Amino acid sequence: MSIRTILEIDGRQGEGGGQILRSSLTLSAATGRPFRIRHIRGGRRKSGLLRQHLTAARAAARVCDARLEGDVLGSTELTFEPQSCQAGHYELQVGSAGSCLLVLQTVLPILIRLESPSTLSLEGGTHNPSAPPFESIVESLIPVLSSAGAKISLSLERPGFFPAGGGRVSVSIDPASAPRPIDLLERGSQLSQDACIAIAHIGDHVAEREWNVVRKELGWSDSALRVHRFESSLGPGNALSLILRHEHVTEVVSAIGTRHVSAERVAHQAVDQARRYLAASAPVGEHLADQLMLPLALLAGGRFRTLSPSLHTRTNAMVIEGFLGEGRIRIEDEPGDACRIEVEGI
Ligand code: AMP
Repeated sequence: MSIRTILEIDGRQGEGGGQILRSSLTLSAATGRPFRIRHIRGGRRKSGLLRQHLTAARAAARVCDARLEGDVLGSTELTFEPQSCQAGHYELQVGSAGSCLLVLQTVLPILIRLESPSTLSLEGGTHNPSAPPFESIVESLIPVLSSAGAKISLSLERPGFFPAGGGRVSVSIDPASAPRPIDLLERGSQLSQDACIAIAHIGDHVAEREWNVVRKELGWSDSALRVHRFESSLGPGNALSLILRHEHVTEVVSAIGTRHVSAERVAHQAVDQARRYLAASAPVGEHLADQLMLPLALLAGGRFRTLSPSLHTRTNAMVIEGFLGEGRIRIEDEPGDACRIEVEGI
């Protein structure tokens, strides 16, 4: 079978969301293998390409000069034929409040493997439900990628919340010239815990009420509170991130303020996730686990212990193996809320 044989992907498999498309774009660009995906986001109530997915597809296409077919809003089928990847400066705008950090998730693993540095200017949502918020990328994902050999820095020029969007993030990427396998089996000792509350154009009482829940439920002292007021935001918004720093890893759990959902409920969503993480011993949280596998598979691999794998993680593992070959990701369940994932690098 030639490496250029087109790979057929079913967007309904596993959790059936945008991750299947994004991972396929990344893997196709990185390996040179073209793919066709049908039933894009077939497991979601409203299937097909939203702006964020369309931006991710076009971004990946720019980076590897790919031929794209089906790249229109709402499309449920896309064909992607990559050529060679180029480092450089890319300006990537979602054009809605869709997450620009999921666009980053698509192109970052491609760019960290090239020989020259790249820079990105991203525009869109920076604090979205069902997407990594800015804080989790900076505090949690980037340090692990740095242990794997890639130096990445991000700055938040302005946040983007639904529905106004307009957030801006700049990124500089120094590729991993000598990738290293990562070994993340233990958290190490607990270093610090912060509650980071972003608010834009809404009253301070929202931050106060969220903090009251966190303080009471988790027993944290006032010195753990950081409130960031963003006057520059195009619209109102609120996000709560609980940052759990350990010697070898930092976990960020978060909840996004939503209209008609009380500040207390938002805080409880984050507190419940923090409790689950703190009650377990695995170093890598649920979301970090599914986000790490792909860059590690394209670098030198590694192994980590994480919470019981989510459907996202299992689905992402299937997509990665579809491009790179079976047996590249081994998931072994462990007693309790844990499993061990081993990723073979390229
Ligand atoms: P999908 O729902 O398939 O578009 O994928 C969503 C992506 O966002 C996955 O990589 C998730 O791990 C990630 N994600 C969703 N919620 C969070 C969160 N609260 N913190 C960090 N990452 C998240």
